[in-house]
This record gives sequence, structure tokens and C-alpha cells, in this order.
Amino acid sequence: ETVAELIARRMTTTPDFPKPGILFRDLTALMADGEGLRRVTDALTSAMPADVDAVVGVEARGFLFAAAAAVSRAIGVYPIRKQGKLPGPLLSETYDLEYGSATIELQPDSLAPGSRVYVLDDLLATGGTLVAAVRLLERAGYVVVGVGVAIELAELGGRTALGAHPVNALLTIS
Ligand code: 5GP
Repeated sequence: ETVAELIARRMTTTPDFPKPGILFRDLTALMADGEGLRRVTDALTSAMPADVDAVVGVEARGFLFAAAAAVSRAIGVYPIRKQGKLPGPLLSETYDLEYGSATIELQPDSLAPGSRVYVLDDLLATGGTLVAAVRLLERAGYVVVGVGVAIELAELGGRTALGAHPVNALLTIS
């Protein structure tokens, strides 16, 4: 079974969550399974370029993937958080989400300028979250070498929104 087949088989799909009309895909059960966590982590990690200094996780599910991948590579993990969770000095970006709008923040003093970073999240939909994350990282002086997700919802155009930044998706749903 490929990792794409594994994700497709174990993913849960919930209609009308968190809002009417949204089909919510979730990997909680797969990530709670040791073998599932290892397969997903290995697949995400093997797609990362060799010379990465830190893995960035986007709150909240991205933290799980990023910490696992960082340990697997023996490099650091660096969080992008929702507004109000980190003490300053901070940089922030506000963006439109598939449902609503959001502000994300990072603490630029915690990772050396010029660091090469790879960004992980669970799911790519419109790309709003990851485009804002990339903008934030670049404003802080980091080099974003790529983006990885477990699931890509291709019809929502996130890959196009990310432009030249290479995206690795373990499962693409069209
Ligand atoms: P985007 O910003 O690309 O439109 O949406 C992706 C962000 O919203 C990710 O941080 C992701 O966690 C969350 N998200 C959007 N749709 C879903 C979904 O169906 N399932 C899960 N787990 N997260 C979603």
C-alpha cells in the first residue's frame, strides 16, 4: 500500500464541519496509529531537500507533522502560531481562509536570519494559510525551500497560489 493509498483509506471526511458546505478531511486516526505516523513522517521527510535548517509547522495540525519530520532529520522545529499565542517581538500576516479570516504570527528572534526552512501543514486547500506563512517567513529573512502537506485539495488552487515554491503532497484529491 502506498502512502497515498494509506491516507485515502484512513482519512475521515465530515460534511458541514466547521461550517455548512465544508467537507472536512482529517488524519487524526492515522496519526494516532504508530505505523501511520511513521509512514506519513517518512514520506514527508524524504521529499525535503537535504540542506534544510529547520522545519516550520503551522498551528495546529502542522505542529505534529513538523516536529516529527524535524526529529527524523535531527534539525529544529519552528512554529507559526495563531494570533495572541506568542510574546513579542512578532511579525504577523492576516489572510482569508476557506472559512473566515485569520492572523498568524512568528517570533523572528528565535531562528537565525538566512535559515533555510521547509514548511509543513496537514492540508492545502486555497493556499491562503501557506501563502501567508511563506510571506511571513520571507519577511523575517528566511529562505523557504519548499512546502509539504499530507493532503492537497487540488480544485481549490493552493498549488498555483504558492507560485514558484515547490509543493509536495502525499495525497492529491481532485
Ligand atoms: P487554506 O488556507 O489552504 O485554504 O486551508 C488550509 C488550512 O486550513 C490548513 O491549515 C488546514 O489545517 C485547514 N483546513 C482547511 N480545510 C481543511 C480540511 O478539510 N481538513 C483539515 N484538517 N484542515 C483543513
